[in-house]
Amino acid sequence: MSAMWDLPDFDDHEAVHFFHDIETGLSAIIALHSTHLGPGAGGTRFWHYENRETAVTDALRLSRGMSFKNAMAGLPLGGGKAVILADRNRTKTPEMLAAFGRMIESLGGKYITAEDVGITAADMVALTKETKYVSGLPVSKSGEAGGDPGPFTAMGVYLGVKAAVAHKLGRDSMEGIHVAIQGVGSVGGGLARLLAKDGARLSIADINKEHAAALGEEIGATVVGLDEVMRIEADVFSPNALGAILDKVSIAHLNVPIVAGGANNQLATPEDGQRIFDRNILFAPDYVINSGGIISVGLEYLGDGDVSEVNRRVAMIPERLTEIWARSAAQNLPDSDVADNMAMALIGR
Ligand code: NAD
Repeated sequence: MSAMWDLPDFDDHEAVHFFHDIETGLSAIIALHSTHLGPGAGGTRFWHYENRETAVTDALRLSRGMSFKNAMAGLPLGGGKAVILADRNRTKTPEMLAAFGRMIESLGGKYITAEDVGITAADMVALTKETKYVSGLPVSKSGEAGGDPGPFTAMGVYLGVKAAVAHKLGRDSMEGIHVAIQGVGSVGGGLARLLAKDGARLSIADINKEHAAALGEEIGATVVGLDEVMRIEADVFSPNALGAILDKVSIAHLNVPIVAGGANNQLATPEDGQRIFDRNILFAPDYVINSGGIISVGLEYLGDGDVSEVNRRVAMIPERLTEIWARSAAQNLPDSDVADNMAMALIGR
């Protein structure tokens, strides 16, 4: 492996910590991209990576995304992200979580964690035995900010999809609008339910076929194949599974005027933002549209407002997206570049 700073995804990250716990065998990376606006905040991903390089790349990309996301959401938080390198069986024990909690604690508050793929609210509670730098904890009384960030992310993505449809298609109702959703877990599933209530026509795909079938049955969505969901003719393609799915090949096959979804780091490379733009497809930069969850856990951690304040701020996501789209048109620049430029200015880069 080349030196950290030679990796293509290294973006002058302030620090990248590699941890290994001998007793439990737990390996984790905590990357801090920028603490310009505050401590690096971002979830922990628990994933089986094919190799260590992929895990490092994920940590670098995701932590940079968090710097941009927190800045654009107006939070006094920097960008950080943890990845736990799970084994093939995704073994997760209380001892491993305790070891991970101690790793976070050792950074003295420079990194604040929350849930991400493979990590639950119960895991967050387990971490509190070892560290106080945890958010996304279950709420103890109604009206409090906090809890699972998924529903807040789903709400933000839903509002963003509606804003994109209004902006690009001039439609203020989702009735009959065809949305193809890739991944119907916490975020994609929440989005699908909200859109179904509005009478949208839904095509859904998930590697968990039983789950997709059950959801399809429940909300009247059509289950389509994993490849088909990215090529199907629809009004919106909404990626809500993993990142880097928009590349030269997949973009060439998109059959939609809008891409708007909650998955982190959807563009495989920065050039893919230009490719989408060249195809005249409206793109909702992922870290702007999917900031609902961090708004919730951020306000929870900062003790800065209740759930109604979270909802008020989530409802501002469409405004931010509309500003990006307007600047993109005015500057003839891809939506993704416009958002990056805005975020970089906010974090002093
Ligand atoms: P999740 O694990 O609940 O759901 C992901 C779903 O995608 C699962 O149902 C999984 O089976 C499916 N999936 C995985 N690979 C797939 C593939 N190749 N094709 C189709 N489906 C596939 O996770 P989540 O919390 O819903 O997060 C989804 C995405 O949104 C991730 O990229 C995550 O980083 C991002 N995100 C989540 C939040 C949050 O609050 N949960 C916040 C911001 C961003």
